Amino acid sequence: MCLLEGAEDARATASGMAAVASAIGCQLKAGDHIVAAKALFGSCRWVIEKLMPSYGVACTLVDGKNLDAWKQAVRPETKVFFLESPTNPTLELCDIRAIADLAHENGAKLIVDNVFATPLQQKPLALGADIVVYSATKHIDGQGRCLGGIVLSGKKWIEENLHDYFRHTGPSLSPFNAWVLLKGLETLPVRVRQQTETAAKLCEFLASHAGVKRAIYPGAPSHPQAELAQKQMTGGSTLLAFEVEGGKQAAFALENALKLIRISNNLGDAKSLITHPATTTHKNLAAEDQAELGISPGLLRLSVGLEDVDDLMTDLDQALAAARCFLSRPAAICRGTSP
Ligand SMILES: *Cc1c(COP(=O)(O)O)cnc(C)c1O
Repeated sequence: MCLLEGAEDARATASGMAAVASAIGCQLKAGDHIVAAKALFGSCRWVIEKLMPSYGVACTLVDGKNLDAWKQAVRPETKVFFLESPTNPTLELCDIRAIADLAHENGAKLIVDNVFATPLQQKPLALGADIVVYSATKHIDGQGRCLGGIVLSGKKWIEENLHDYFRHTGPSLSPFNAWVLLKGLETLPVRVRQQTETAAKLCEFLASHAGVKRAIYPGAPSHPQAELAQKQMTGGSTLLAFEVEGGKQAAFALENALKLIRISNNLGDAKSLITHPATTTHKNLAAEDQAELGISPGLLRLSVGLEDVDDLMTDLDQALAAARCFLSRPAAICRGTSP
């Protein structure tokens, strides 16, 4: 992982959340302040918004896309910036280089959760970040077999911050899971390349499909931050999001009609997995927070697997038809589509 990431040193953890919690917890103390982007994996938000304040570490959540918001949030006691890019589930981007520069001007460290880009499509350390974290549960395993995570940084930072914390709090990866994850790393480039290619095709297919309001994919020219994607990523990610007309009921009808794509909130797997963020990964957010993040009732997140692209299109096509049928007729007529 150090070679892939261009990092001097790393520590492997039992899960992605162990990596995130260790990277944050090992360098902060009561009285410090953390600034983080609002659009985060739910548990990361919990650590920053709920856990850290209970230990006396204040936090400010900002719109990660807005550099001025980061600037305004900085206080003399700010020690850490935290972000995820692309974000879950709406695949927005944060300008890693600009935010790293701002962190350093203010004596803070930038942690990047790089799960959605994978180490192959974005190198946060080369863009100026100080620490990179992964959930290895996702693309690195890639086959739903075990949990894992990793924290990567410079030797000095690990020695001075993470080393003792790690030794004494025990978030380490088990040897067996380390072996499984190393097997996953052997095929990571082949899987990610194939999944990215398929994701781009599915985005095009969905964007032009009746019943789809919008399709979001960082690799697409239509992405609102396509220029930034070009600048800091070397691939469009293996995930996409799309919004169906008809809100939650249509989204549920679509999910229930799928035959090949499975419903799960895991991602980066060899199997294509779909999830309804508003009622699963982000259900703990208040309705107005969901709306602010673009998590509408009709939004679905698709993690693209290794199936044949034509099979995936066929599956989505028939499921979209089922969702449309559900919208226009009583549920009883649309077999297998009741939400
Ligand atoms: C899954 C995920 C995590 C947490 O990882 P676990 O291995 O499930 O603990 C953190 N951040 C992001 C972006 C994730 O997708």
